Amino acid sequence: MEKRILITGGAGFLGSHLCDRYHKDGWDVICMDNLITGAESNIAHLVGKERFTFVKYDVTNYLYVDGPVDLILHFASPASPIDYLEMPIQTLKVGSLGTHKALGLARAKKAKFLLASTSEVYGDPLEHPQKETYWGHVNPTGLRGVYDEAKRFAEAMTMAYHRYHDIDTRIVRIFNTYGSRMRLKDGRALPTFFRQALRNKPLTVFGDGSQTRSFTYVDDLIEGIIRLSESDEVEPVNIGNPEEVSILDFAKEIIEVTGSSSEIEYRELPADDPQVRQPDISKAKRVLDWEPKTNRRDGLEKTMKYFKKQVLRNG
Ligand code: NAD
Ligand code: UDP
Repeated sequence: MEKRILITGGAGFLGSHLCDRYHKDGWDVICMDNLITGAESNIAHLVGKERFTFVKYDVTNYLYVDGPVDLILHFASPASPIDYLEMPIQTLKVGSLGTHKALGLARAKKAKFLLASTSEVYGDPLEHPQKETYWGHVNPTGLRGVYDEAKRFAEAMTMAYHRYHDIDTRIVRIFNTYGSRMRLKDGRALPTFFRQALRNKPLTVFGDGSQTRSFTYVDDLIEGIIRLSESDEVEPVNIGNPEEVSILDFAKEIIEVTGSSSEIEYRELPADDPQVRQPDISKAKRVLDWEPKTNRRDGLEKTMKYFKKQVLRNG
């Protein structure tokens, strides 16, 4: 029988890739998004097709969906530091009120619910690499706190609905992910570096660039999310590529991949910027039989094609 899915934040970077995958797999897809950081162009190729509906709506309000829903993926939330620093209240609201509404809908429809959480719940971590059992090191009143605490609240709310209302829930802790449909100017390191390198402008490395991140190619992440939704694992699961790199080396890699003549320019490190970040994915391997398939070099080559087009179009 045909299955029906609601994807909140479905017009965003990750949400639109999820819309594609579920639509391709034969699901009836409802994409709900208020477009504060997403774009209709991300889903334009799906609009008008059978089994796809776009609803422009703010999910912090009461949610109403006609007919059955089998699965809700709650992905609505600004995700880039620049976005959530510009929209702190919307970020807190969508993580708290939006998660509450989406869980309420899951309860009403007897649907499975999957929360898009983040490695940011670990904050500036004192444990490295980060396992799901680590409780994190977050500054609740710092600038990044609006995102980190909203996601920590969202996880707590999800577990409460699971325990108290017996909702079938999943929590994915997503580590830095990249690929096509990232906004060129969303302020994250990867699009910024590509934009700068492709125009032979200096790459802006914050601090001395010794802070690390671990970047996951979008197709690997989507596969992990699907496996998690199909598993029985209720506790959070890290999905990320453990290939860790310092931001300075990452900037140099992007210069190399693009064949750019750009130099590096150092800028002030933002407050509370995590010093290290690397997923421990032993749980994902064990319970989902998942591990990333795309190494960073291949992922960057694929993603460069997308960014080249964006730079030509937008400058
Ligand atoms: P994105 O900004 O591209 O997508 C988020 C989408 O949510 C946008 O389309 C936006 O318009 C929508 N949205 C925001 N508030 C809304 C509201 N109140 N009602 C309806 N729609 C709303 O970001 P993304 O990178 O695709 O991230 C998607 C999800 O994954 C987020 O929940 C984010 O926290 C999580 N995540 C992403 C990453 C990553 O590396 N991209 C890492 C960790 C977690
Ligand atoms: N960063 C940088 N230059 C930029 C944008 C970001 O050096 O132009 C740094 C940022 O300070 C952080 C890392 O790159 O240490 C990753 O930043 P991003 O915003 O991509 O993700 P997050 O900090 O949320 O992991």
